Amino acid sequence: MTKWVYTFGQGEAEGGSDLKNLLGGKGGNLAEMARLGLPVPPGFTITTEVCTYFYNNGKQFPVDLAEAVESALGFISGVTGRTYGDAQSPLLVSARSGARASMPGMMDTVLNLGLNDITVEALAENSGDARFAYDSYRRFIQMYANVVLGIEHHIFETILEYYKQNKGIALDTELTEGGWRAIVAEFKARFEKIQGRPFPQDPREQLWGAIGAVFESWMNPRAVAYRWLHDIPAAYGTAVTIQAMVFGNMGETSATGVAFTRNPSTGAKELYGEFLLNAQGEDVVAGLRTPQNITEAARIAGRSQDPSMESLLPDAYAELTSVMAHLEAHYRDMQDVEFTVERGKLWMLQSRSGKRTSKAALRIAVEMTNEGLIGKPEAIASIDPLSLEQLLHPALDPRAARQIVATGLPASPGAASGEIVFCASDAEQLKSAGRKVILVRIETSPEDILGMHAAEGILTTRGGMTSHAAVVARGMGKPCVSGAGTIRVNYAKETMTAAGVTFRKGDMLTIDGATGQVLKGAVEMHQPELSGEFTILMEWADAVRRMGVRANADTPRDARVARKFGAEGIGLCRTEHMFFEGERIVMVREMILAEDEAGRRAALAKLLPIQRADFTELFEIMAGLPVTIRLLDPPLHEFLPRSRDEIAAVAEAMSVSPEKLTQRAAELQEYNPMLGFRGCRLAIVFPEIAEMQARAIFEGAVAVKRKTGVAARVEIMTPLVIGKEEFDRIKAQVEKVALAVAAEATETIDYSFGTMIETPRACLRAGELAQTAEFFSFGTNDLTQTCLALSRDDAGSFLGEYVAKGILPANPFATIDQEGVGEFIEIAVARGRQSRPEIKIGICGEHAGDPASIAFFQDVGLSYVSCSPFRVPIARLAAAQAALAAKAAT
Ligand code: PEP
Ligand code: MG
Repeated sequence: MTKWVYTFGQGEAEGGSDLKNLLGGKGGNLAEMARLGLPVPPGFTITTEVCTYFYNNGKQFPVDLAEAVESALGFISGVTGRTYGDAQSPLLVSARSGARASMPGMMDTVLNLGLNDITVEALAENSGDARFAYDSYRRFIQMYANVVLGIEHHIFETILEYYKQNKGIALDTELTEGGWRAIVAEFKARFEKIQGRPFPQDPREQLWGAIGAVFESWMNPRAVAYRWLHDIPAAYGTAVTIQAMVFGNMGETSATGVAFTRNPSTGAKELYGEFLLNAQGEDVVAGLRTPQNITEAARIAGRSQDPSMESLLPDAYAELTSVMAHLEAHYRDMQDVEFTVERGKLWMLQSRSGKRTSKAALRIAVEMTNEGLIGKPEAIASIDPLSLEQLLHPALDPRAARQIVATGLPASPGAASGEIVFCASDAEQLKSAGRKVILVRIETSPEDILGMHAAEGILTTRGGMTSHAAVVARGMGKPCVSGAGTIRVNYAKETMTAAGVTFRKGDMLTIDGATGQVLKGAVEMHQPELSGEFTILMEWADAVRRMGVRANADTPRDARVARKFGAEGIGLCRTEHMFFEGERIVMVREMILAEDEAGRRAALAKLLPIQRADFTELFEIMAGLPVTIRLLDPPLHEFLPRSRDEIAAVAEAMSVSPEKLTQRAAELQEYNPMLGFRGCRLAIVFPEIAEMQARAIFEGAVAVKRKTGVAARVEIMTPLVIGKEEFDRIKAQVEKVALAVAAEATETIDYSFGTMIETPRACLRAGELAQTAEFFSFGTNDLTQTCLALSRDDAGSFLGEYVAKGILPANPFATIDQEGVGEFIEIAVARGRQSRPEIKIGICGEHAGDPASIAFFQDVGLSYVSCSPFRVPIARLAAAQAALAAKAAT
């Protein structure tokens, strides 16, 4: 028989964190905390297998589940002395979701289950607080109606607002017992009107309604969107945890809050969190009331007038700090906890690994290693390589003029500018049109998640550091300012007013997530300096990785960034990219459009000094590190002049008529330029082009050696080859130039000559190619295109569907297609090494900066990856993780 239900409480549990896949993160950790003897209200978890069963069986539960649930309710009764549905001593429970991967706020929760017209009286009697009992009952009706039956919150909120207005009351806390009784009566009446039946009084019906709703919430659109964004398979399913209620809304010695064992923004070792007095958990997460600081230190630092938990509830605070220290030491990671204080007594409701900014992640990893809590391999493994991108976010230039219109909370670091939009769908739409937007909301909800993803930054006018906007933005690495309360947002008019300025949709705005400032217009930004912890962790990573990391850099600026981020050389210099600017493009066009060799040579003569200067500068910056230069590979459609002005400029330079030039350009048009006259085909047909480039490279090398005394490490490669015959011809041309330049300069010229591997044929013929090619560099962009017969330029229109339908696991231009392209790579590596065992083999397609692909490249034995400069730190870390994983596997 399958075990569907696992109990926990009173120092023991049937499962623990090790059963996370079955019990979900929340259920598993509650069980673990119970086992550790921490104060956890008793409860039980219905497993993720029930969720799978539910969806595979037309939303039916296993037949023996009801019996298991009854018996588990009996277990809770045994611990609490209360019975579910009992008229004298009723047990109330919560039903909460919990998947194995944390999906904060995406699924549903129902609190206060078991309340009805009879048990509410017993709750009033037993607690001695009828106001509290009816406050809980009205919360329950609203939450149950919403989560289980889909009745909108605002229907109930309007009733409450109307009641308060009539009575001249401003705050909920001013409502008396009588007030809440009246509200409950009105809520029930409205419920009956909408549903055509009374609010369910049977506690068993309530319980199963809630369990079903939580399982159903696994498939709600926001949960589906979140899984899609975070690569969480739908097959995981959620567990449902049923737990005895404890009440943070039982008066002024009760509270509820969330806290982190370390600061999730900076990583500092300090208890960091917020709480609300006399409230239930949903009040904190919803961001409707502004929470208070837990510690005195934070209160003073934030200059808050509201007392801290440390001063208001000192005993519960002391216990909380010790429980949190215990949890961090136990899990050996920063924890994020939810707790409730019921009449002075602390209860833990959740503990999980806390989400953190990457700056915080680095500091925590390094400090925990120094504290001896974890080892270096764990520190390296604890950082998501892609999250390092956050550190590379720009910050406001301190010298730039600023017009601050409001200040909110610094909820997620980084600065961003963009056009204002007021709804998530506008954010998505403008983003897909290539625009940058700032999403401005009064508060965000999980429905906004795709819009938040599309925005450069997020600004809210309500909510604290742990509000939805803050938590989600930090997870996404997006700048966020939350709770900027002086800003007035008008959704209907699509305007916001701040400091007397009215902004409309489309106006430019800047937010600074580091200071909480909101600024008019687009403010100048600069790249931040990387922290000491970043450098330390990167050193640890470099010490364990096996593969080299180089950068794809075409300009001196790229090369400087690449070196700053620790690139060990240039793995790809796309020489055609050197020509995109100003005058140069005209010369390249002259060369391409020339009708004969003489015309081409004339254009090449103009290009030679420019190229020589470019290479000299690159070699100088790279100071003896390898620089791999690729001979020209211009897909013609990127280079042919199109507009009248472009044509006129080239015509003038070539002294031909615009008509003639237009005709020549038309002759060169191709149906499929990606498979057309590009790559080494150009050097084969027009050898003078490769000749000029080789000369510029070698003369640059001579110049830099003379100037700096440091010899350049020159590697030249040829793109898009299909076989040895083609390769050898170009190699011979280049060699001839090398000898000539060496003779002219009376210097020796050292270089190696290799090939890109970008076609299936080159993979198959790699054995022969390696006889004369001294190195290989996989161009996986083209190799993916040519293996899958998917055009790099056109696949965008249908690839999304392929991934959404699960036909391809990921976009093959972003993450290497291991089964197809991967096999070609393996073949090429094996055949290449057979002819030349020591051959250096790298990869310089976009995949070189993708952690999942990097793991594959490590497995097939590549020597290095070469990625865009900003991806270099990511690749260094991913390569270290791949090396550690490979070591662990042996
Ligand atoms: C490649 O094809 O992977 C490559 C690096 O070259 P390009 O993107 O310039 O075609
Ligand atoms: Mg290519």
